[in-house]
Amino acid sequence: DFDVKIPSTTDDELGELGHAINGLAKDLAHMKNSRNEFLSAVSHELRTPLTYLIGYSKVAMREDISEEKRKHYLTIIHEESTRMKALVKNLMDLAQLDEHKFTIEKELIAAKPFIEQVAQIVSHSFAEKGVHLTVDCPHNFTFYADPLRLEQIILNLVDNALKYSEPNATVTLSCKQSASQTRIIVKDTGHGISEEDVVHIFDKFYRVEKSRAREFGGSGIGLAIVKELVEAHGGSITVTSELHVGSQFIVTLEEV
Ligand code: ADP
Repeated sequence: DFDVKIPSTTDDELGELGHAINGLAKDLAHMKNSRNEFLSAVSHELRTPLTYLIGYSKVAMREDISEEKRKHYLTIIHEESTRMKALVKNLMDLAQLDEHKFTIEKELIAAKPFIEQVAQIVSHSFAEKGVHLTVDCPHNFTFYADPLRLEQIILNLVDNALKYSEPNATVTLSCKQSASQTRIIVKDTGHGISEEDVVHIFDKFYRVEKSRAREFGGSGIGLAIVKELVEAHGGSITVTSELHVGSQFIVTLEEV
């Protein structure tokens, strides 16, 4: 004779199980949904510049147009393909980040020269738009981070600050260190983000002004990548923003 003990299931436990299964079903439906949204956003993003490339290359090949016009069309072709290249780079990063295939290789970084070197990379595009870039990194402290990934993080934030600022505005890139934290702050006096939008700002493909998205370029995945990269460092990112006043992004790294 076997004495089999079947654990009795209480109503509470059954209720919990039902709850969990419901939750899972919802998650799955949501995942399927966001995957579709993701794919259609990517297709759209790639198709729009492609349409420009095909159209403008066709007119640029015509023999009856002036050199000036040809140059104008080629400039548009160049800008659109550069934008496409940046989008594909972001997409490849996103795929890697999702699969956690990337590694963070931390090194000791000297804050002041590092921040100044990143500012140097964007100085030309700031000058072109007439936006001032101020670097405020008075103390030359050191901290640990992956220099290439941190550069990518700061470039994304500074590029956004430039993109959403008007000529003559000022963007400030600063760094601070307290007992156990390093903070890198990107502050702009640009368009700002409303309270209802700011909570979605780190979502993939989220853009505030969808109708004006082409004017500003971008794909709405820059900040999603920034967040993943900061968190992969064991750090965090926060934003405070006010519409028509400006935004401030703070990256906090714990390892000093
Ligand atoms: P995008 O490539 O469209 O700029 P991001 O992921 O970098 O995508 O940003 C998502 C959205 O957040 C942007 O489309 C923009 O509406 C808003 N945003 C990001 N940074 C700023 C900023 N500094 N000022 C105002 N809006 C911003």
